[in-house]
Amino acid sequence: MIPEEKTNILLVDDSSDKLLALESVLADLDQNLVKATSGKEALRLLLQQDFAVILLDVNMPGMDGFETAALIRQRKNSQYTPIIFVTAISTSEALMYKGYAYGAVDYLFTPVIPEVLRSKVMVFVELERKTQQIRRQAEQLGQLNQDLTRRSAEIEGINKELESFSYTISHDLRAPLRAMQGLSNALVEDYSHCLEPAGQDYARRIAGAASRMDSLIQDLLEYSRLSRAQLELKAINLDLLVDELLTENQSEIDERQAVVTVRRPLPEVRGHATTLMQILTNLLSNALKFVRPGVKPAVSIRAEPQENSHRIWVEDNGIGIAPEHHERIFRVFERLHASDAYPGTGIGLAIVHKGIERLGGRMGIESKPGQGSRFWLDLPKVQEAA
Ligand code: ADP
Repeated sequence: MIPEEKTNILLVDDSSDKLLALESVLADLDQNLVKATSGKEALRLLLQQDFAVILLDVNMPGMDGFETAALIRQRKNSQYTPIIFVTAISTSEALMYKGYAYGAVDYLFTPVIPEVLRSKVMVFVELERKTQQIRRQAEQLGQLNQDLTRRSAEIEGINKELESFSYTISHDLRAPLRAMQGLSNALVEDYSHCLEPAGQDYARRIAGAASRMDSLIQDLLEYSRLSRAQLELKAINLDLLVDELLTENQSEIDERQAVVTVRRPLPEVRGHATTLMQILTNLLSNALKFVRPGVKPAVSIRAEPQENSHRIWVEDNGIGIAPEHHERIFRVFERLHASDAYPGTGIGLAIVHKGIERLGGRMGIESKPGQGSRFWLDLPKVQEAA
């Protein structure tokens, strides 16, 4: 614990005996006791430092306690400093009220009862401590705020850099890859007569590797775009979106002789069309891909209402996934199979995961080896989100 700072207490009295008496009563509080023998001196001290409380004698030669209090109240930095009048001159109520009118918080008569004085002064010491604490916290908060603003400006800068870096990758790095792909294809097509079978095989492999690397770069770019993009969420008609999904993937569905069943009508959800399309495309293409050889994929897309969301299910009759892998498959580059068995980049489910996170939804999987996989996505209902 940080030791508490001492607060200043101002004692004002023209009599040094009375000052000494006050001092001895308050010594136990272990605070800084500052003494003044006149109103003028008190005002001078108030210019130099802050006080938790002022104990002010009423009857002083020259400027009396009331006049001093009036001047203290006129100054901005002491206008709220608590004043306790201490006097022996009279117990008249009129004077006491005059004291309150000058902004006193209390009015005590000598001889003061030490315990009473100590506990009254302690209230203001505590108050001052709390005020200082709040002030420090406000300063810290201001500092934190400044740090945050600076950090977000830095992050914005980094994002801009990353954006231009992605742009460079997509254009500069993909161009030579396309050249490799094109030229090795040309080698196979136009020069196969001068190439032995091994040479033709090498050229085909170069084209294949270049094409895989191209997909990898494209997927990575898509992932990084998704992490940074500003997404404006709106009502999405899932029936229309799934129509588009099937149209765009029709050739793959036909090629694999797959049956995709959609249980309609699908609901409206709050989301972002392009992101949802990316999510569903990755889930569908995995469902079509990860089947045992010779098995025709059967995929089902359906929805069921939850309390505040709709749960969308994408289910397949594929090879399934062992529960111990359920978490890691959503990470970038995590794959459970060699690419010659099932080609892929290992970024698809990372895109799904990131996409759902960006849409404020949740996702999960139910699957066992050999028993197909069931992926679910929870997306906010339109009226709930509104
Ligand atoms: P990719 O499809 O490019 O391999 P993903 O990130 O989409 O990468 O998937 C990661 C891994 O999760 C896959 O390699 C596969 O092992 C497993 N997986 C994903 N979807 C399915 C599915 N529907 N059925 C079985 N395994 C799946």
